[in-house]
Amino acid sequence: MTETIKTDVVIIGAGPVGLFAVFELGLLDIKAHLIDILDKVGGQCAELYPEKPIYDIPGIPMVTGHGLSEGLMEQIKPFHPTFHLGEMVTTVEKLGDAQFRVGTDAGKTFECKVVVIAAGGGSFQPKRPPIAGIEPYESKSVHYAVRKMEAFRDKNLVIVGGGDSALDWTLNLQPLAKKLTLIHRRDDFRGAPDSVNKMRALVADGKMDLKIGQVAALEGGDGQLTALSIKGNDGTTARIDCDAMLPFFGLTMKLGPVADWGLKMEDELIPVDMSTFETNIPGIFAIGDINTYPGKLKLILSGFHEGALMAQKAHHYIYPDKRLVFQYTTSSTNLQKKLGVA
Ligand code: FAD
Repeated sequence: MTETIKTDVVIIGAGPVGLFAVFELGLLDIKAHLIDILDKVGGQCAELYPEKPIYDIPGIPMVTGHGLSEGLMEQIKPFHPTFHLGEMVTTVEKLGDAQFRVGTDAGKTFECKVVVIAAGGGSFQPKRPPIAGIEPYESKSVHYAVRKMEAFRDKNLVIVGGGDSALDWTLNLQPLAKKLTLIHRRDDFRGAPDSVNKMRALVADGKMDLKIGQVAALEGGDGQLTALSIKGNDGTTARIDCDAMLPFFGLTMKLGPVADWGLKMEDELIPVDMSTFETNIPGIFAIGDINTYPGKLKLILSGFHEGALMAQKAHHYIYPDKRLVFQYTTSSTNLQKKLGVA
C-alpha cells in the first residue's frame, strides 16, 4: 500500500496561478504540495508560449512565459513547496470537515485540509497518433510520457515525433536502450538545433537509427508490442522490432477529471464566491483560468489576486483558532523572516 502524504493544502496545477498561490499561502504559514500533469512547471506559459513576451504583468514591462515561470519559482523558494510533476489528479473526495483525500494516476494519495484547483484550461493531455489499433498498447508498451527512464533499459525503443520532446527523450534514452529508432514524417525537425545536431551525430556514429516516414501498423498481443511497420514517403514499407514506443505528437487541453469531483460547473468552468474564490464545496477553492464569476478576465494578474484572497480564507480552515492579522511585506519583520530577508 502506498503511503498517504499529509499536508495543509494540495494545489492542483502548477501554472503561474498555482505557483503564486504557494507564495500567498506561505506568508500565512500554510504548506503546499503541487501536482501537475506536465513534467515542468508554468502551465500555459511554459507549454504554449515559453519564448513569447508578456507585457501585462504589473511592474514587469516585459517577460517571456519561461521567464515568468522562473521568476515565480525563485519567489516561492522560501516556502519549500513539494512538486509532483507528470501526474494527473484523478480523484478529490471529502472525508469530513476541512479534510480531503486527493489521488493521482501515479497511485499517490494526499490528505489535506484545503484543495486549491488551479487547473487552468484543464489538463494538458497527449495527442494520440493516428495509428489504427494503438489503444490496447497504451500505458503498457506505448507511453506518452516517461515516468522512469529505467523502464526503457535494454529495450528496442521507438520514439516518434520531430519536436523538442521527441528529440530530448531520444538523447536521454539512447544510452539506456538496446536499440533506439527515431521516426519522423519528414527529415526536418522543429526541435532545438543543438538537439537536432546531437541526434544526427548519434545516427552518423551508428548509435541509433533515424527513419523518415509514418508508423503504419503495430504488431504484438496483450498490450505488448513486438514490432511495427513504417511506411516511407517513397511508398516503401519497413518492419522493425519494437518493445516500447513513445509517440510525441504534442498536447491538447481537455477539462479532464475536474468535472467528476462533485463541484458545481458552468460551461466547463467552476463558479466561485468572488470574495474568497471558494467553490460550492467549503474548503475547495478554484483560482485562475478554471474559475468563473461576473466580470472574470482570464489574465494571469487576475489569478494572482484570486490566490491572495483564497489564502485568507484557507487560513480559517488550517488555523481555525488563530486570528489573521493583515501585514505588508515591506514593513512586517515577521513576513520578511519567512522570506529569509530579515
Ligand atoms: P494554466 O497556465 O492553464 O495551468 C494549469 C495547469 O494545471 C496546467 O499545467 C495543467 O497541466 C494542470 N492541470 C489541469 N488539470 C490537472 C489535473 N487534473 N491534474 C494535474 N494537473 C492538472 N495572460 C496574460 O495575463 N497576459 C498575456 O499576455 C497572455 N498571453 C497569452 C498567450 C497565449 C498564446 C496563451 C495561450 C495564453 C495567454 N495568456 C496571457 C493567458 C494565461 O496564460 C493564462 O491566463 C494563465 O496561464 C492561467 O494560469 P493558470 O495557472 O490558471 O492555468
